[in-house]
Order: sequence, then C-alpha cells, then structure tokens
Amino acid sequence: MHGLMMNLPLNISALIQHADRCHGDTEIVSRTVEGGIHRYTYSDAHRRSRQLANALTALGVKASDRIGTLAWNGYRHLEIYFGSSGIGAVCHTVNPRLFPEQITYIVNHAEDTFLFFDLTFLPLVEKLAPHCKGVRGWVAMTDRAHMPTSSLDLLCYEDLVNAHSDDFEWPVLDENLASSLCYTSGTTGNPKGVLYSHRSTILHAYAACLPDALNLSARDVVLPVVPMFHVNAWGLPYSAPLVGAKLVFPGAQLDGASLVELFESEKVTCSAGVPTIWLGLLQHVKAKGIGFGTLKRTVIGGSACPPAMIRTFEDEYGVQVLHAWGMTELSPLGTVNTFKSRHLEWSEAERHALQNKQGRAIFGVEMKIVDDEGRELPRDGKAFGDLLVRGPWITREYFRGEGGDPLADGWFPTGDVATLDQDGFMQITDRSKDVIKSGGEWISSIDLENAAMAHPSVAEAAVIGIAHPKWDERPLLLVRLKEGAATTREDMLKFFEGRVAKWWIPDDVVFVENLPHTATGKLLKTKLREDFKAHKLPGA
Ligand code: ADP
Repeated sequence: MHGLMMNLPLNISALIQHADRCHGDTEIVSRTVEGGIHRYTYSDAHRRSRQLANALTALGVKASDRIGTLAWNGYRHLEIYFGSSGIGAVCHTVNPRLFPEQITYIVNHAEDTFLFFDLTFLPLVEKLAPHCKGVRGWVAMTDRAHMPTSSLDLLCYEDLVNAHSDDFEWPVLDENLASSLCYTSGTTGNPKGVLYSHRSTILHAYAACLPDALNLSARDVVLPVVPMFHVNAWGLPYSAPLVGAKLVFPGAQLDGASLVELFESEKVTCSAGVPTIWLGLLQHVKAKGIGFGTLKRTVIGGSACPPAMIRTFEDEYGVQVLHAWGMTELSPLGTVNTFKSRHLEWSEAERHALQNKQGRAIFGVEMKIVDDEGRELPRDGKAFGDLLVRGPWITREYFRGEGGDPLADGWFPTGDVATLDQDGFMQITDRSKDVIKSGGEWISSIDLENAAMAHPSVAEAAVIGIAHPKWDERPLLLVRLKEGAATTREDMLKFFEGRVAKWWIPDDVVFVENLPHTATGKLLKTKLREDFKAHKLPGA
C-alpha cells in the first residue's frame, strides 16, 4: 500500500519562490565588481530570476543545456543559479582560479552553451573564447554603462534581463533532473564533473539548516566567503532562501579588511570558508586590535581546521567554529562538529580535543571505514581506514561517465583516511595519497601540521613524505613564518615533543616564503612533493 501524500517534486525554483513569499523584504547585499554595494530583496531576486528565465528561453536555451559561469559571489550569480536551474537548464559554475587550459577543458567537456562572467574575468574569457567554439554567447555580468571594449562580441547581462518581463511560471520539473554542475579540481588526471539534481540539492539544503549542521534561520545574516564556484558555496545560496536568512556577498574582495568591514556594516551572524581565508582575516583583526560585533559562528572546512584557529576564534573572539568536512561529490556537506549534551560536562581539554575532529554525519550521509581488503573497521575512534559514504546527495557517477564507475559496492570512496568513534564523530587522519608511510606504519600529515600550527611563530605549515632508504618515507616539515617572527629548525622540532609520538616527529624543517595552494585553497602537496623530491634528510 502506498502512502497517500502529495507527490510534488522537489524543485529548486520553489526555494526562491518561498523566499519571495515569506521573506520578500529580506535583503541580499553584494559588493560589486564595478565598485560599491548593491542592495535588494528576495522579491527582487525572484523577479529578476524570472526575467532571466525569459531571457534564457529567448536565447534558445533548452532543458539540460549547460549555462557556464565565471563569477564571484554576487546577486547576478544568484539570479543565474535560479534562472537557469528553474527552467531545467544546468548551472555550471567554473572555477576561474584554475589554469586557462583546465578551464577550456571543462567548458568544452561540459558543452556550455552560454558563459556568464564577471568583468574581472574578461582577459581570461578572451583567452578561452578561441578554444571554446561550442559557446554560443559570452555574457558580461554588468550594465550597459560598464560594458568593456573587447575583441569578442559580448552580450550585456542587464540588457538581457531588462529586455524581458517577469511574467514567468516556473515549470514543474522531474526532481531527478540535473540542476547544477561543478568539476572537482582533482590533483591528478582531468577534472571530473559532479552533476547535482534538483532533489539532491533540496535535500542537502534542508539538512544544512539543521541545528547541529549550520543552524541557519530567518534571524541569520549569512556571508558565504566560500565561492559560488566551489561546490555551490557549500549550498548556502539554497539554504539561505529556504530559511529566509539575509545574504551578504563579498564579490572579489576576500582580504581580511574588506571582509571585516562587511561583517560589521551588514551585521553578519554566520560565515563559511576554507582555513586559508580565515588566516588572513584573523591576522587583520589582530593587527587592528578589533573583534567581531555580530558574528556568532563560522563554518570552516575544505581542509583540516588547525586547532589553533578554533581556539583563536572561540576563546579570543567568542565566535563558534563549526568544523565541517565535505567534498564536491557530497554537495558538499558530510559532517559537522557540534557537541552532544553530555560533552558539555567534559573538561575543557577533552572538549577541545573533540573539536579537532571533523564531526558527526548529518542525517542523509552514511559513513563507514574499511581496511585494504574492504573489511569494515570498528567505530572505536582508534582504527583508521578508507572512508566510504553513501546517501541521496552523494555522486553515483561523474558527468559523461568520466573515470568509470566510482562506487565500491554502492559506496563512494572518499579518498580520505579516517577514524569513526562510537558517538559517530569522524576524524580525517589524511588524504590517502598524503599519508606518510614510515617503516610500515602510517603517519598523519594533518596531525603534524596541526601541531606545528600551534607554534606562535608559524603562519602556515605543510608536511610531506620524503623517500628514506631505511624507513621508506619520513616526514619533512615546511613552514611559512608569521611576518616578523623568527625561530630555528631545532626549536621547531623540539616543539613537537609531547605533542605527537616520538617517531612521528619530522626529520627536517625547511622555512619557505610561500606555500602553494590549489584552486580551492588546499595545500598543493603534489607540487611540494615535486619541489622537495631531492631534499636530503639528515641521517638518510
Ligand atoms: P577538490 O579540492 O578536489 O575540488 P573538494 O573541495 O571536494 O575537492 O575537497 C574534498 C576533500 O577536502 C576531502 O576529501 C578532504 O580530503 C578535504 N577536506 C574537506 N574538509 C576537510 C576537513 N574539515 N578536514 C580535513 N580535510 C578536509
């Protein structure tokens, strides 16, 4: 016997429609590329998304056509999210920080029909265009007054939108239709497309709002620092309208001073971004001797959040850190670290240790860890193995079958090595390819980096395995010091004593001016391994 409830499909257009009806005067504030602050409401965003839907239809965009974007976080980008998915097309956010050759590959692989770009990216677009013949039109996301001169025949976003009425009814779409596309910046091989559906996006958006997830509500002012081209800004452009939170978009200015200014002027309560972004922000706040007036919590993920950063946010500034783990293939949320009631009675030291974990799975994400033979390992907080996940917002196959069947027995292998404890808390010990194999045992590069980051002179640390004749591999620590700070190799190594097992202590330290990052802000360890391949460890 079937249940007798309505079978209305989950459609993304319902989010912006709901926000319009119930939170019509709630603001969306954007720092624009042209300069200055743009301010409007959910009602305005919904109206203009409908105008855009008419414009796209007039351009001949059909269901399932991919609409590419090369754009910062801003209101026009939000309109493209809803305007394109709402008519059954696919919003394909492209990461402009990738190399032009990678972007060319991605745009061609996705077969983007139109590409919408912020003015910042005009030089990039002019480079791409000759190699992306399938793109029928390049749309500058600006108004007539700011249209640049270009070798290309550009379309103007505002002209397109303004030429059409807002008289548009969102079609009711099969909830399993593709809604957006995001390529993972995989460190090896070609980027692979993760193709989200309306259903997966809505379920993920619901889950993200839960109190033990991002805890979003109509009383929040959300500023996603994480770009809309990186896994849909972790779903915030969908979750915010779902609850009616005010949205603040920082545009291209992601430096500490610009962010803090927006935090304060717009009374931001919740933000989200990768650790490298917060490094710059915290340095600025400290140098200026200021704090955060309204910011209550910030989501930190994408790579391990150094414990020192959690302590600074919470103890010095009273801002709760939500340490989260996810992947492009997980839409991206998998786990978030929040306490259970009994943890509130734990000692401070115990609570701090717990916070360094990546957190508990949100309902909708099932997790297990397995050994090399695929046997499930115990959830005891000690055994570590390959982390597998499954759930309705997790990839089952990459776009156009790239890379073959990624699943193992119906589970998605994350490529992360982790522990799970009896409370369901997961802790990443490493990416499987970054783990250091020393004398048949594994050393966690993340643990060593976290320990190094606790040193008062260290701005950023990376640990990689260096070939060793006796031990196979031994850890090498690379350190970028804080401005004006000084320390020695010996002092650095001594700092690890008592913090990690003796045999984990790195064999050597190199001080560097800069550490390389991927286009999504993670340490680029492949590059570091290449650069330091010939490094001779003392005693090796
Ligand atoms: P890419 O950089 O390949 O585009 P993603 O942004 O999807 O990829 O990155 C996913 C990976 O980032 C995870 O598999 C994990 O290794 C790492 N990661 C994400 N969040 C965390 C975290 N909180 N702690 C440690 N690693 C993390």
